[in-house]
Amino acid sequence: MTFTPHYCPRCGARLHDRHVFGRMRRVCPACGFIFFRDHKVAVGAFIHHRDRVLLVRRAVDPEKGKWALPAGYMEYDEEPIPALYREVAEETGLSVRVTRLLDVFPLRTPHARGVIIMYEAVPEGPVPEHPPAADDVDAVRWFRREAIPWTELAFESTRHILRRWREGQL
Ligand SMILES: [Zn+2]
Repeated sequence: MTFTPHYCPRCGARLHDRHVFGRMRRVCPACGFIFFRDHKVAVGAFIHHRDRVLLVRRAVDPEKGKWALPAGYMEYDEEPIPALYREVAEETGLSVRVTRLLDVFPLRTPHARGVIIMYEAVPEGPVPEHPPAADDVDAVRWFRREAIPWTELAFESTRHILRRWREGQL
C-alpha cells in the first residue's frame, strides 16, 4: 500500500512529485506518465446449499488460519463473475452459478486497498460433502447458521454477510 515507484514504468526516467489532478502524485518529467494509485478489486461468494454456507480456511496471510467466504483478486483481463467462478473452482473445486449481487465492501489489507464485490451463488452439479481445499486455502467446510465460527472469521465483509444470513436477511 505504501509502495512508491522511483522510475517511470513507461520510459525509465526518474519520477518527480508534482501536484496534478488534485493531489501530489509521482509524475515522469520525460514522457508525462502519471502514477495513479489504483484500487485492487476482489470478488467473493456467499455460497449456500440446504441452509449451509461454504467457508474456506485461509492458508496464507493476511488472516491465515481464519475462515472466510471464498474470494480472490480479479486478474486484469477478467470480468467479475468469471473471476469469481475461477476463484471458487481454484479454492474449493466447486462449480457455482451467481444468483445475485449482494454488496460491495471496502477492502483493506497490509498490502492493498480496494473493494470486494460480494455475490450470492449456488452450486451447480454435484455438491461434495467435503470439498477439497487447494490454492491459498487449507480447508473447505459447509457450516450451519448455529455453527459459524464467529471468533475465527477473517475480514469484515465475511462477518457482515454472515450476520445478515444469521438474521434471516439473506
Ligand atoms: Zn516516462
